[in-house]
Parts: sequence; C-alpha cells; structure tokens
Amino acid sequence: MNRDSMLAAARDGRTWDVLVIGGGATGLGTAVDAAARGYDTLLLEAGDFAHGTSSRSTKLVHGGVRYLQQGDIGLVMEALRERGRLLKNAPQLVHNRAFVVPVYDWWEGPFYGIGLKLYDVLAGNLGIGPSQWLSREETLERIPTIEPEALRGGVIYHDGQFDDARLAVTLARTAADHGATLLNYARVDALTMDDGRLGGATVTDRESGDTLEVSARVVINATGAFSDTVRHMDRPGARNLIRPSQGVHIVLDRSFLPGDSAIMVPHTDDGRVLFAVPWHGRIIVGTTDTPIDEPVLEPRPQEQELEFLLTHATRYLTGDPTREDILSTFAGIRPLVVEGGENGDSGNGEPGGSGAPDTSSISRDHHLSVSDSGLVTIAGGKWTTYRKMAEDTVDRAAQVGGLERRDCPTEELRLRGWTDTADSEDPLSVYGTDAGDLLDIADGELREPLHARLPYVQAEVVWATRHEMARTVDDVLSRRTRALLLDARAAREAAGDVARLMAAELDRDVAWEENQVTTFRDMAAGYLP
Ligand SMILES: Cc1cc2nc3c(=O)[nH]c(=O)nc-3n(C[C@H](O)[C@H](O)[C@H](O)COP(=O)(O)OP(=O)(O)OC[C@H]3O[C@@H](n4cnc5c(N)ncnc54)[C@H](O)[C@@H]3O)c2cc1C
Repeated sequence: MNRDSMLAAARDGRTWDVLVIGGGATGLGTAVDAAARGYDTLLLEAGDFAHGTSSRSTKLVHGGVRYLQQGDIGLVMEALRERGRLLKNAPQLVHNRAFVVPVYDWWEGPFYGIGLKLYDVLAGNLGIGPSQWLSREETLERIPTIEPEALRGGVIYHDGQFDDARLAVTLARTAADHGATLLNYARVDALTMDDGRLGGATVTDRESGDTLEVSARVVINATGAFSDTVRHMDRPGARNLIRPSQGVHIVLDRSFLPGDSAIMVPHTDDGRVLFAVPWHGRIIVGTTDTPIDEPVLEPRPQEQELEFLLTHATRYLTGDPTREDILSTFAGIRPLVVEGGENGDSGNGEPGGSGAPDTSSISRDHHLSVSDSGLVTIAGGKWTTYRKMAEDTVDRAAQVGGLERRDCPTEELRLRGWTDTADSEDPLSVYGTDAGDLLDIADGELREPLHARLPYVQAEVVWATRHEMARTVDDVLSRRTRALLLDARAAREAAGDVARLMAAELDRDVAWEENQVTTFRDMAAGYLP
C-alpha cells in the first residue's frame, strides 16, 4: 500500500460504487467485503487506520461471557461463530487463549461451570476447547500469582485473542489486494447532495491541506463513536444514535501473571467483567465502563478508573501492583447505540437523558440504518463481529446504491499474510507470510532492536512506512508496532530513531523529525499514569 498512489486514485474523478467513511474495524471490514464482491471501493479515514477504538480494545475475539450473563444468547452465538471464522481466516493474528475464572465462594464453581458449559455448547463445532473444573492445586499451578487465600479452585475455558491494530492493517491490505483504494489522514468534512440524494463527500487531505471532492453511488458511515457527527452532516438535528462510554486498561509486567493463562473475574464491584490477559509479553488488565459526554480521538483514563483497576488487580494478584508498576494505560470509547435512537427520529440530539440506561447494560449488538437521502450508518457491535457487520452493511448498501447484487465471499476469505504455522510467541508472527519479505530488508543496523525493552527491530519501522502507509511516528509506535501500549516510557525513548528512519523513507527534513518527536512524546505522556 502506498499513500501517494492511493491519493492519486482518490482524486481521479471517477464515481465510486461504494464510499466508506471511517477506517476502524467496521469500515475496514466493510471495505474488504465490498472490494471482494468486486465493487469499486474507496475508504477514507480522518486519522490513521484503527486510530480510534479499534486499537484500544481488550484484544479478545470472544463470544462474550458477560452477554451470556445478560441472557443475550443470539449475540453470543453470532460472536462465537465469528470467533471460529476469524481463527480460520487469520490464524497468524488470532489464537486460542485459556482463561481461568478463580472460585472463592462455594456457589461460584457450579454457577460458572454450568454457564461456561453452555458457552461451549453455543460454539458448536466452532468450539476451540472445552471448559473444565480445576482444583485449588491445578488453579495455583496454572496461575501461581493468583490470590490463594480462600481459593477453592477455578473454571477454565477458551476464547480467542488477537492484536487489534495489526488486524486492522491486515484488513486494509486485504482490501487493497482486492482493488480497494484506502486513504488515511483524509477527513470527510461534508456530504454532497444531488436532488436530495447523497452523491459523495468533501474531503480534506490532512497532509497537504488540500480539498478533494469524491462521488459515490452509496456512502457508508462507519465512524464508530463519531457516527453522529457524520449523520448530522447528512441531516442536521438528527437525534443522536451513540451514547459513548469509555473503557480503560492498564499494562503491567509479565511477572504479575506468568504462564499462559488469563484471568477472568466475572463480577467486579460495579458488576462488570474484568480481565487480566498476557499479551505480547506483558499483562493487560481491564476494563472500565464510564459514560462520557463527547467522543475524542485520544481519550484519557480518569483517576478513579486507574484506582478501580489497581484495586481489583491487587485483590486477585499476589504481586499487589501499584501505580509505579503501570507500564502504560490506554482508553477507548465504545460506540454504544442507544435504544430507540433511530436515524429517522427527530429529537433534541441529547444522548440518553434522565432514565437512560447505564452504559454497561446497553446492547453490544450492531445497528444498521439508512437515512432518507441514502446514508448507510453501521454502528455498535464489536471487533469480533466486524465481518458479519460488514456483510449486512454491504448487502444493504448495494440495494441503496442500485448496485448489481453479488454474494458475500468473506466467510472463508483468508486475510493477507495467511499462515497457520505462525508461532504467536514470535513477535514477527503478526505479519504472517509477509514476515519473510520484512526480514529481507533487515540488514545491518535494521536488524538491531528498536529499544532494549521493546520486542521490535528497526526494519519494522521501514516496513511500516514502505508497505503499511505509516505516516507519523505515532502510527509506527502505537499501531504498526504496539510499543506505546507495551511500555510508554520506552516508546517515548524510541521516538527519535523512529523519526530518523521514517524521514529517510519519506524524504522529510530535520524539522519534520523534530516536530514528530515532540508531538509523539507529548501525546504519549498521556499513557503514563
Ligand atoms: C475498552 C474497550 C474494549 C473492547 N474490547 C473488545 C474486545 O476485547 N473484543 C471485541 O470484539 N470488541 C471489543 N471492543 C469493541 C470494539 O473495539 C469496537 O466495537 C470496534 O473497535 C469499533 O470499531 P469502529 O470501526 O466501529 O470504530 P472506530 O475504531 O472508532 O473507527 C471509527 C473511525 O472513524 C474515523 N472517523 C471519524 N470521523 C471521521 C470523518 N469525518 N472522516 C473520516 N473518518 C472519520 C475515526 O478516526 C476512527 O478511526 C472494545 C471496546 C472498548 C471501548
């Protein structure tokens, strides 16, 4: 993927079959689907691919044990089906992870044991391992750092785990392989109408500041937490659909949870599920559910969210992590859809209001709607179900745009770099079969580590810039690699080398390098507690 040629294609004046606004899980999945059906597809992303929520998830490909507790069987079954498909279509990025539910009260064993057996049954032949009761000794063997006092045993079950931003870039490359044009740093500022019908968009190329006009037969709004901003471009005053809620994670050293098993706590003080999961040699603990007023691209953890996570981590882990142990902390915004927030509704645009549900009880199911002028909005859902969301969206968009009907091919579509021999412990496994080409450029200095505390080599910076449309130091350290999430201090220290390597690739001057380093370090300071 090369941004200059993508930009030239976006400017060439053609009428696209499908225009997708938003380059997170939902928009990228939709672009893969539309392009694989043979529709001429353009995707525009205001920031970088997966800049928003899609790089800030808990990294689970799961049916959602929590939704089972809420009795949302349909949602769980759909997600379990998609989990199975994703494991088959992108085994280089998604793998099986064992989760242990620690049991301290006598009733928890049978209660969670039966619930998780139901989870196995719902997965049917796409199951990835049966749940089982563990004795106290077996639980301690799997998780030596679990709080032993009053521990009775545990229940083990299996779910999928992945690297969200790497899956996003893999989807972008898969879409491009199928002929789609994708442009990051291209913000839609207005929608253009033709006789009351939506005909395209006015776009700012955020690198040059230039304005572009693009035309399309159908326009899809896949902007997640920002969906209402685009809906208001179509229909000012339309009632808000999204009720944003923030979720925070903290990242800790692996010594707090050695071994391969994750911990799942089914009931925290505020009635939520909490995970502590090994990921890329660290532990991710999360998450929270805090309603917020306005979505922003760089949300910041609130003080009480960090306290909540540390309190629970201390309760279940013998290492008793403190603030000083936090290597990084990151926040994401759930694009939850308010019930009754239909597109055609009029209203005052206020989300919720008195009597509105607590965000943790709003459905995680996806919501598809079409406005009078033909704007197709897809919102809600989860990473795990992105493929099904995309299928439903493109089916509907094809009708709205009057496109020739074509079947969805993605159920068994292998994503770019597909290989089932990748070792998930190998840091280069996320590139799948592209890892070979990456190693070919890893000569001399480029073979060297990017930083002593990070699992990356310098060649990955060059690769991301040359082939994955990384344009800023942030793109490389936050999403092409996951340095910022793994160790924010180390990422800040590595910024200078990343800027130097990128400047050579992109033909930028020293002023650009300095500006990139300062901007990144300022932003990354927000990932330190
Ligand atoms: C804390 C947390 C944990 C989660 N954990 C999981 C999990 O473990 N497993 C799971 O399956 N799901 C999980 N989810 C849910 C999942 O992450 C989201 O459902 C998914 O990432 C939403 O993707 P999206 O594409 O709809 O939104 P986003 O990723 O936010 O993408 C929308 C994009 O639109 C762009 N955009 C906005 N306005 C414009 C414009 N005017 N022009 C162009 N582009 C624009 C934004 O820059 C953004 O990149 C989690 C969510 C949160 C918040």
